[in-house]
Amino acid sequence: AAVEVEAEKVVAELREGCATPASLLRDVAAAMAGEMGAGLEKEGGSRVKMLLSYVDKLPTGREEGLFYGLDLGGTNFRVLKVHLGGSKKHVVNSESREVSIPPHLMSGTSSELFGFIAGELGKFVAEEEGTDMPNGKKKELGFTFSFPVRQRSVASGTLVKWTKAFSIDDAVGEDVVAELQTAMVKQGLDMHVAALINDAVGTLAGAIYYDEDVVAGVIFGTGTNAAYVEKANAIPKWEGELPNSGDMVINMEWGNFYSSDLPIYEKLTSGMYLGEIVRRVLLKLSLQSGIFSSIDNSKLKTCFHLRTPHISAMHHDETPDLKIVAEKLHQILEIKDTSLETRKMVVEICDIVARRAARLAAAGIAGILMKLGRNGGIDNPRSVIAIDGGLFEHYTKFRECLESTLGELLGEEASKSVAVKHANDGSGIGAALIAASQSR
Ligand code: ADP
Ligand code: MG
Repeated sequence: AAVEVEAEKVVAELREGCATPASLLRDVAAAMAGEMGAGLEKEGGSRVKMLLSYVDKLPTGREEGLFYGLDLGGTNFRVLKVHLGGSKKHVVNSESREVSIPPHLMSGTSSELFGFIAGELGKFVAEEEGTDMPNGKKKELGFTFSFPVRQRSVASGTLVKWTKAFSIDDAVGEDVVAELQTAMVKQGLDMHVAALINDAVGTLAGAIYYDEDVVAGVIFGTGTNAAYVEKANAIPKWEGELPNSGDMVINMEWGNFYSSDLPIYEKLTSGMYLGEIVRRVLLKLSLQSGIFSSIDNSKLKTCFHLRTPHISAMHHDETPDLKIVAEKLHQILEIKDTSLETRKMVVEICDIVARRAARLAAAGIAGILMKLGRNGGIDNPRSVIAIDGGLFEHYTKFRECLESTLGELLGEEASKSVAVKHANDGSGIGAALIAASQSR
């Protein structure tokens, strides 16, 4: 029984440390809104970068013609084309292909990588029928590139650094659009890169195309980020000419947000880290209480060994004896012969970690609504938040908790005018849609 008492102590401490009462979430939302303002004020003025995307024309749904998209973010990239049929028909047809990038190209040279990408794009275009553009117009391409870039226009951006599995030194500091354009010319591919965006901006574009009340695009995937539409005259740090539309999409880069109540936001709210947090708790549980009898902890000691899809599977286990939890503990962590009580404890740990993530995710969104003045009161214009990413898409309890917490934070009245929706595949189609809207 001493073992159980010790174990319960670890869980109780976690429960307390991860508590997110509404009062704390309201502080987080207010701090997020405050950082947003500070980031718009001056470059480097806040923890959220609030980068200008230079996207000043979002798709309206009236675009017509054939447009291409390229999505490079992880180990795969995707090429796609969409045929837009105007306001009545919208997307008449779309086709896409996923291509995995040979690992050696991820640490080779810039011209090898972009040569490969342009080559695959060329093949895709050539295999499609009826791709001749009417009256000799150039093919327009939107490029979703989910790495940090510094932009000075909608169709250019210098790479700040690589992240994830990529490290191609000679590309750092270079304009990735120019690199791609050069590679396409070498392939004899007659295409024009109309826009360089990231996945949050793409999600916003993909959703606003169908629904003009969409105000923000948010990603909860491996990482997290958000983009929203700001009034151009509310961006003091912007020195250039104001766009005709009066709007500017801001790429928040909110993963780096933190506050006195909170360490770095992305580490608490994104798929890359939730499994790892649970692993650390389970290791502590094991060392402190010895509840997982007779294991050597070697798997439990391996960083990032337990992944978010694993904790999601355990968290959603509805079998009466928690068979899936037993299976995952055994297969992934080599923890055998757990009691039902212990398995319930593991589920509770997943719940504590995922619930905190979802509630903080809702607080971030409430922060955006606060900045837009749409977080309270009555008779607000309808506001839709478009969300994409594997964590939101597949982790049902995360998603449900996010949605209910947003309701809790906004209150009954303001909730009526706010909707959250899953925007599938924004990073691909959004790029093509922005190519269409920018080239109009
Ligand atoms: P990316 O963010 O890399 O572009 P995705 O949006 O597809 O990719 O998100 C992938 C992430 O989603 C994974 O790293 C993982 O953390 C999370 N994820 C994927 N599947 C699940 C799942 N079944 N349950 C919980 N999280 C998942
Ligand atoms: Mg993605």
